Amino acid sequence: MPIPILTYHQIDIVPPHGTPFRGLTVSPRQFRLQMTWMRRLGYRGLSMRELMPYIQGKAVGKVFGITFDDGFRNVHRHALPVLAELGFSATNYFVAGQIDGSNVWDTGQGIPPAALMNAAEVREWARLGNEVGAHTIDHVHLSAVPLAEARRQIEGCKAKLEDLVSMPITAFCYPYGEQQAAHRELVREAGYDNATLTQRGLARADDDPFGLPRVNVHCGTNLLRFLQKCLTRHEDKRRAIGLES
Ligand SMILES: [Zn+2]
Repeated sequence: MPIPILTYHQIDIVPPHGTPFRGLTVSPRQFRLQMTWMRRLGYRGLSMRELMPYIQGKAVGKVFGITFDDGFRNVHRHALPVLAELGFSATNYFVAGQIDGSNVWDTGQGIPPAALMNAAEVREWARLGNEVGAHTIDHVHLSAVPLAEARRQIEGCKAKLEDLVSMPITAFCYPYGEQQAAHRELVREAGYDNATLTQRGLARADDDPFGLPRVNVHCGTNLLRFLQKCLTRHEDKRRAIGLES
């Protein structure tokens, strides 16, 4: 059974119209509504760690994946309480060189700076049953750096985050979704179990665990569209014909 892995970035007041990449922010109210509806419909939101057996067909149930990219502080503030309340877990992909930093990689694109979680917040994220995933040390374009540097970014991120939370880090996410076969191999060699893309689609048992597609949720996704994305195979058809939403 194909399973949706949701992608969120920031959970906060949505910036004004015209702000670049405004869609990457989902309001706290919208997020709560989306999660509450999934719960009402009998679904459980899971981190990648807990979701993998379902994707691989080793477990069966009404589940979906919840992932956040970049480790924004507003996710700790606005999403963490909702997840805890509903008994859901999620994976946040942290940029190891920017703990307590900000989205410096977005500078120059007009994207407003936003704070990233500090060490205590990352630890609390993990302590409450959520997963700390890896998103390189510096949020690099993996395709644009030499392989040796890509390896350092992929391995180094894992080591730094494992130091921080004293737990194995097994989930990876390619910044900007950029990856080639060599990068998937580096991720596998580094000891991760799975890696997600920005490519749209539902995750299936026959997908490469180091190239899992996801379903993007943005501020313009109304509840009906959200449930459609989660509960139908519609997204998979789009994937097959290569359409973007
Ligand atoms: Zn990112």
